[in-house]
Amino acid sequence: MEDKIRAIASFNALEHDGKADVNSVVSRVVALFPEERKNLKNLIPRIREIVDEVNSLTKEEMTGIVQREFPELLSSRTKEEKKSLPDLPDVGNGGVVMRMAPSPSGPLHIGHARMAILNDEYLRRYGGKLILRIEDTNPSNIEPDAYQMIQDDLRWLGVNFTEVVIQSKRFELYYSEMRKLIEEGKAYVSTSPTEEFKSRKQQGLPVREREETPEENLERWERMLSGGYEKGEVYAVVKTDLNHPNPAIRDFIAFRIIDTPHPLEGDRYRIYPMMNFSVAIDDHFLGLTHVIRGKDHIANTEKQKYIFGYRGWKQPYYLHYGKVSIENTILKTTFIKKGIRNGDFTGWDDPRLGTLAAFRKRGFDPLAIRRYYVESGIGSVDTTFSWEIFYSFNRKIIDSRSPRHFFVSQPVSLKFDFEGTLNADIPLFPQASGNAEKGSRRYKVGKGSIMISSQDYAKLNGELVRLKDLGYFKVESSRIEYLGESINEDVQKWNPNRPLGKVPIIHWLSGNEVPFRVVKPDGTVDSGFVENDALNYIGMVHQFERYGYVNVLNEREGYFTHP
Ligand code: GLU
Repeated sequence: MEDKIRAIASFNALEHDGKADVNSVVSRVVALFPEERKNLKNLIPRIREIVDEVNSLTKEEMTGIVQREFPELLSSRTKEEKKSLPDLPDVGNGGVVMRMAPSPSGPLHIGHARMAILNDEYLRRYGGKLILRIEDTNPSNIEPDAYQMIQDDLRWLGVNFTEVVIQSKRFELYYSEMRKLIEEGKAYVSTSPTEEFKSRKQQGLPVREREETPEENLERWERMLSGGYEKGEVYAVVKTDLNHPNPAIRDFIAFRIIDTPHPLEGDRYRIYPMMNFSVAIDDHFLGLTHVIRGKDHIANTEKQKYIFGYRGWKQPYYLHYGKVSIENTILKTTFIKKGIRNGDFTGWDDPRLGTLAAFRKRGFDPLAIRRYYVESGIGSVDTTFSWEIFYSFNRKIIDSRSPRHFFVSQPVSLKFDFEGTLNADIPLFPQASGNAEKGSRRYKVGKGSIMISSQDYAKLNGELVRLKDLGYFKVESSRIEYLGESINEDVQKWNPNRPLGKVPIIHWLSGNEVPFRVVKPDGTVDSGFVENDALNYIGMVHQFERYGYVNVLNEREGYFTHP
């Protein structure tokens, strides 16, 4: 924790000309580590010392500390950059025409959300069009439901696409554009073995067909389209420069034969465009002005440039952003698909997955995702997704609207021999939430039993404890005894190790509990009981006090949101 605080202080100092400020460091610590709030009294003097220490360091030393101890902070940007994303160049009066180009191999995940949100932010800034282009040109990797799921995911994110274009409906356009390139000698159709094509390219040498006339190549193209070849026998190639210093940019395959039936088109087409070809043709015909995509597309931009050049088209403005690594979740579509089929995952919204469907089910507010990606900017430096920062954004949004309830996991039931009735009146929302007038949970507690979690029990057996909003109690073996609403010095003598201010305050249940389970992001389940008032708020994220935020899905089960 001290190392993290030192990193937060260094980061704060870097944001403020080398001088960290104690108050901003404290609030950042609490935002990122809410469980430290109760420990603040001890922590503040230490934070003060750390801030003094850090303020005497050089900026290089501060940067070193942040990079070593808490590199995720760097993806949350400085104040200047935080203001907004950079402007795009050459935006005309009609605004921008941009696109999102996912493949329908599955629904969108938290990685895709970045491209969607950045595009949408620019559409909001400039107006114009944002096309959702579904790139379904690999029939063996299509999940038929994904066409719809992708749109649902985008709507949930608040991303306003203005039209949907499906590439498998545009094959005739791709064919006719390829024909033109062949006619102009800018492309050819080869039946040379692909190994030979590759190895000759590596040496900067052409295959035989590259040297043949457009007429000969056109003839092969027509034969390819009319079913005159078997799969693997033929492919069509766009010429680039065989001497290009980067062999990956030299002549690239634009079409090949695929016999797998297409989920929308069946076996209507056998000749499939490769991504670089269909992307270039569509980016032109859809009138794109600006394309933002990951750095991994830089070589593709270079290849696509040849098509634009041959046809005399103006290229859109490209912006390539750095990679975001997202750890501690599962994103790989093929793996997820297999897991769903095997029954290892409950579906696309299994809490272990990084899909937006899972995020939705865990109760995240899409605005937290937007804020995260806007604040991490569009730079070309690679970053790592910080769950801590993302959680802190989400917490800030949902905290004041999350009703409070008690959930006791792995409960221990303690015998309560009490003649009389205790009244509990527990606020549904904390005072500071602005929702305090929304009432409280009222319970009567009498002779019977009281439940606390086994975790608390292990620490408290034989000790004095405060049951939240009920009073002081003493836990002794299998019983719990009421001591009163307040305790005096006599009780204190009985328990000298715990000065009054240090008596733990814990959550509890008595006579108003229902069985409930919480499914965690690692797939494990916490079983226990929740107070029955919680069931009046199904479909909402709750704060289960001293436990964490939970999206209550139905009367038996919730998904853990975050601590
Ligand atoms: N469909 C491509 C992909 O999934 C995107 C193509 C592009 O952005 O140019 O990576």
